[in-house]
Amino acid sequence: MTTKHPEHPGGCLCGAVRFVASGEPIGGNHFHCGMCRKDSGSGVSTFFAFPAHAVTWDSKPHEYESSPGKYRGFCPICGSSVTWRKGDDDSFIDFRLGTFDDPSRFKAQKHLWMSTALPSFAGIDPDIEHFD
Ligand SMILES: [Zn+2]
Repeated sequence: MTTKHPEHPGGCLCGAVRFVASGEPIGGNHFHCGMCRKDSGSGVSTFFAFPAHAVTWDSKPHEYESSPGKYRGFCPICGSSVTWRKGDDDSFIDFRLGTFDDPSRFKAQKHLWMSTALPSFAGIDPDIEHFD
């Protein structure tokens, strides 16, 4: 008998970028940094990381080097922000929570970069860890 790993399909708004992440995520956090705000146009960004080897792509995002060695992936058609990764570390890929077809399956563990969080997020989620 074989154990099937859960599969987490996802993609961008228009469907031009599609992926399937298999197994359980390495972790997931809410990011309150300014670069993620610019990347997404949203006040906070939530990412879940999967091992790169656990991800299969039907079509990959176009990557932009937002800072040296750090790449953010966007759909070349609709512009959805899909991924974040380190160029020198292919052990994991961060996926934006909203790109998963069923994002309700995941629960973030921490709020990060709270020192740069917007005032409206002060005191949010007091039951999980916060880091400046
Ligand atoms: Zn798209």
